[in-house]
This record gives sequence, structure tokens and C-alpha cells, in this order.
Amino acid sequence: MKEKGLLVVISGPSGTGKGTICKALLEKNDFWLSVSATTRNPRAGEVDGVNYYFLNKEEFKNKIDSKDFLEYAEVYGNYYGTPKSNVLAAIDNGKDVVLEIDIQGALRVKESYPEGVFIFILPPSMEELKKRIINRGSETNESLMTRFKAAYKEINYVSKYNYAVVNDTVKEAVKKIESIITAERCRVDRVKENILDSKEGIIHEQLYD
Ligand code: 5GP
Repeated sequence: MKEKGLLVVISGPSGTGKGTICKALLEKNDFWLSVSATTRNPRAGEVDGVNYYFLNKEEFKNKIDSKDFLEYAEVYGNYYGTPKSNVLAAIDNGKDVVLEIDIQGALRVKESYPEGVFIFILPPSMEELKKRIINRGSETNESLMTRFKAAYKEINYVSKYNYAVVNDTVKEAVKKIESIITAERCRVDRVKENILDSKEGIIHEQLYD
């Protein structure tokens, strides 16, 4: 039987650097990053189908109605969703899939796919988080405060996750995530069936071939 891929959910408050971590993780590893759909406007340099699938509200709603999303959530006034069929097909094909999504979305995925690996990215400190949100420069003052206040509350959700990774430096955070994925691939409840199947195969060969 073909081993399924892992579903790795990387999540955490805005400004913790999860996007940068995912980019670095993908550069070094053969993982498949799911491209989300969103109703927000593209930022400078963002490309449709690469960074996001940019949809209008009606197109997004139609996809909700046809149950095309593994999860979706409203984040800061815009909708974001993970297209379901591509993700599940990649996992069935043995690919490890990475989702970089907000906390509400991650908790929804956990309900429908509890065997996923749920990783919470933490800032080194709240002060550092504030600096990072400000330095990003893409937010208005109002949305900056909204994001910071939300981040402050969202840290409490860490207890619902399997792993917490502090983003001191991107390099170290990526190393920790790679170690988590390596360990998860070796978990007995994930590999047991394959080991037992191949053991049966050997016995079968010796008895009957
Ligand atoms: P941004 O607008 O800065 O690209 O993303 C805003 C937030 O939406 C980030 O926290 C990002 O992780 C989250 N996000 C991106 N794609 C998805 C998705 O498919 N589902 C959910 N629930 N959140 C997403």
C-alpha cells in the first residue's frame, strides 16, 4: 500500500513570520504548498494562481456552496480558503502538503483531518511581533492595531496545536519544522500498516513462491 503524505499546517498570528518560514521550508524540501483562494486584492508583485487564486465574493461564495474548500475563514474582512480536491489528491499520492493558514482555519482542518501535523509559530516576544507588523509597512494604522490586538489574543490558541516553534531566526525555525516532519513520518501509527503489509508479503513469498 502506498504511504500517504503528511498534511502539515503552519499557522499562528499575523506577523510571526509564517509566510517567510514556509517559503524557506519549500526552497529546501520537496513539499507541496497549497495555494489558497482569497477575496482580498492582490498586493504589488502578487500573481494569480501563484500567491493566491484571487476571486470576487460571488465566486468565493459559489465555491463554499459547492463544498470546494477544506476550510475557509474570514480574516480581517476578507475571505480565505484552502481548495480541497488538490490537497487531498496530493496527500493520497504520497506528497507532503503544507498549508499556511490562519488559526480559525487551522482549527477547522483539525476537526476534519485530525491526523494532520499542527504547528504554531510564535514570535520571540510580543514587542518583536509589534515591530514586525509595523516593519511590514503594508498595513494602515488601523489595520496594524487590529492585527496586533488579534495576535495578542490568538497566542492563547497554541494549546490546541501539536507543536510550538519560536521564530527567533528563520533558519532555526525551518530546522525545527524539518525535524518535526521527520519524526512525524516515523510515528508508528503512521507506518504500522505498511510495515505489517510488507512483513506479510515476505511470509507469503516464502510459503508460496
Ligand atoms: P495575507 O492577506 O497577509 O496574505 O494573509 C492574511 C492571513 O490569512 C494570514 O494569517 C494567512 O496565513 C491567512 N491565510 C492565507 N490563506 C489562508 C487560507 O486558505 N485559509 C485561512 N483560514 N487562512 C489563510
